[in-house]
Amino acid sequence: MIKPPMSENEEERLVRLRQLKIMDTPLEERFERITRIVCRSLNVPISAISLIDERRQWFKSIQGLDVSETPRDIAFCAHAILEDGPLIVPDAHNDPRFVDNPLVTEDPKIRFYAGFPLNIGENICIGTLCAIDREPREITEDNLAVLKDLAQMVQSELEAMALSEAHQNLLEELQEAERAALIDPVSRLWNRGGGEKLLDRELGVVKRKDTPISIAMLDIDNFKKINDENGHDVGDQVIKHVARITLSVLRSYDVVSRWGGDEFLVILPGCEKQDLFNTLDRLFKVIRMNPAGTSNGLIPVKISVGACVARPGTDNTTVPLIKLADKALYEAKEKGRNQYVVVMADKAQRIDV
Ligand code: GH3
Ligand code: MG
Repeated sequence: MIKPPMSENEEERLVRLRQLKIMDTPLEERFERITRIVCRSLNVPISAISLIDERRQWFKSIQGLDVSETPRDIAFCAHAILEDGPLIVPDAHNDPRFVDNPLVTEDPKIRFYAGFPLNIGENICIGTLCAIDREPREITEDNLAVLKDLAQMVQSELEAMALSEAHQNLLEELQEAERAALIDPVSRLWNRGGGEKLLDRELGVVKRKDTPISIAMLDIDNFKKINDENGHDVGDQVIKHVARITLSVLRSYDVVSRWGGDEFLVILPGCEKQDLFNTLDRLFKVIRMNPAGTSNGLIPVKISVGACVARPGTDNTTVPLIKLADKALYEAKEKGRNQYVVVMADKAQRIDV
């Protein structure tokens, strides 16, 4: 195996990567969508957006593999960032750089690799968009063209301001290690601590701008049974599925965090009652139409949601809003599960007093 050398502009490269505030951040649909397209259009089982720092490649998005990072020394992508164009490895067994690489000799047993560099500014390459197969193969001109266009889309997204103001501010404030501590390793969403910090900040923005906000508490129905019948690992796969599918129906400035076991908090800044109904209808539809693909086959999943809408001017803080959503969730469960209950925060609070 040949270890990848450092780039000539390594220092500048790392500065640009850090400026993006992207390492150790949660999953985002705008990147998930791109790696899904790579898998479907190139018909490969694995695709990733890999970002390379001093010591590791960290995956902003990865399909087909359950890892969030690998050491830089063994990363195909660490070789790819040294190239001017794409790095294509038709068969790793025939390439001295990779033949005895542990990613080739052991799981995931990579044979084919195609990676396009992700450049920020002039020739500063921070990572790759790559397609990976466990079988050797040639890449067609068409496939190369698709991968190149998608790599350019990733570049644009990396530089775009897609998150809410509060979300962006939180990322700016936190150091990489602090961010990593606020990410749930199973779902790769913000954990409860991250969700609480974000909700506090979003409520601050809502108050200042006098805009509405909705929050929703989502809980998987009969999840204990899924665990009992299929084991904890499959249960984890179902949690990942619900995390990804929930992200897929939200706007880029909404936030999902894993609140606890099988419970997720969704924050929808600027979202009024009708938008919330539309979003929840979409969510229930995609959940119904997409069973979780697990190592035990397809498992249908159902959820219940309790949500509350705070109209502009509602005097709300984090705790009462969460309590309202929790209460609505309890009601959805009581009414037979597989449904949502929405309450208006101002009305509900008047009743409470
Ligand atoms: P309900 O429809 O009322 O929501 O019932 P439920 O079975 O979904 O809920 P309950 O609270 O009874 O069970 C949740 C289970 O989730 C219990 C716990 O063992 C399991 N759990 C909690 N965290 C994890 C996790 O990280 N992974 C897995 N696989 N299971 C988890
Ligand atoms: Mg549950």
